[in-house]
Amino acid sequence: MIIVVAPDSTREQIDHICQRIQELGLKPHLSQGEQRSIIGVIGDETRLQTQPLAAIPGVEQVIPILKPFKLASRQMKKTDTVVEVSGAPGSPPVKIGGGHLALIAGPCAIESEDILAEIAKAIRAAGANILRGGAFKPRTSPYSFQGMGEPGLKLLKDIGHAHGMAVVTEVMDPRQVDVIVRHTDMLQIGARNMQNFDLLKEVGQTRKPVLLKRGLSASVKDLLMSAEYILSEGNSQVVLCERGVRSFEESTRNMLDLASVPNVKGQCHLPIIVDPSHATGRPDLIPAMARASVAAGADGVHIEVHSCPEKALSDGPQALLPSQFAQLTEELEKLAAVMGRSFR
Ligand code: PEP
Ligand code: MN
Repeated sequence: MIIVVAPDSTREQIDHICQRIQELGLKPHLSQGEQRSIIGVIGDETRLQTQPLAAIPGVEQVIPILKPFKLASRQMKKTDTVVEVSGAPGSPPVKIGGGHLALIAGPCAIESEDILAEIAKAIRAAGANILRGGAFKPRTSPYSFQGMGEPGLKLLKDIGHAHGMAVVTEVMDPRQVDVIVRHTDMLQIGARNMQNFDLLKEVGQTRKPVLLKRGLSASVKDLLMSAEYILSEGNSQVVLCERGVRSFEESTRNMLDLASVPNVKGQCHLPIIVDPSHATGRPDLIPAMARASVAAGADGVHIEVHSCPEKALSDGPQALLPSQFAQLTEELEKLAAVMGRSFR
């Protein structure tokens, strides 16, 4: 439920409305705009059905929300949310959403200082604004490389910032949140953890932007409900990521659901980017799907790049070479300009 507050209402009236909501066992979420304030009511709305909320002074309108996600909904916020990722000291924050596109790139896993520095230099020259790299890796096999852990996080931050980029890395467990928050600018929730609700609550308690990837078999509604978990803890800085879903098709790693981009945008104000690397698993398909993502209205792309894919410790077969990435970003910049958007 959304309560639209009358434009001439006083601070006392707004406080009183919030207090009544709390008395009814629900959580008010006040969003104050320049012209208007609205209050999202979080919790079991059935408790409110008999309560004459419209009679409280200062309430202009009570709008029931049929969607199970409230804070993430367009009804709650009509304008696109612009997430700001503050990174390298001295560099402006990277904006994502509202016409600003993210160009997130880097290796699947952080492997060594030399390799990461080589990749960072190349992707920055090609226009990337956020460096990605996993230090804690969700591998299908327990025998595969599991990531460098905390020393990898330090490398990521130092190298990303030295090249003027913000950094993002995956957090897999609530116990990792503290250390990862200290070393990174944005927290990635991977596909396998999209419904790890304790983890979502934990990152919701931080004030770091979150990159929330769609689960392997998650519906768009599931994705938005997971975003709702983070928003309801008070962290409004969420970027969604379409990375393909499991399907019967065997020639690609996953099935890229590009329709999810306009689908999400119609019902949710949060930015959504696309990861064509994990969606296709194939370097020959990544450029076309990245271009299609920008054309579909995505707020950016997330692409794995490695200077020597054949030696990569994780996801080498799907990595683009820096030269392929540079060619792609040139095309994406032109496409973005046609669509009145920009990677800056
Ligand atoms: C990754 O970004 O390296 C990753 C593991 O992605 P996903 O969670 O989408 O599989
Ligand atoms: Mn990967």
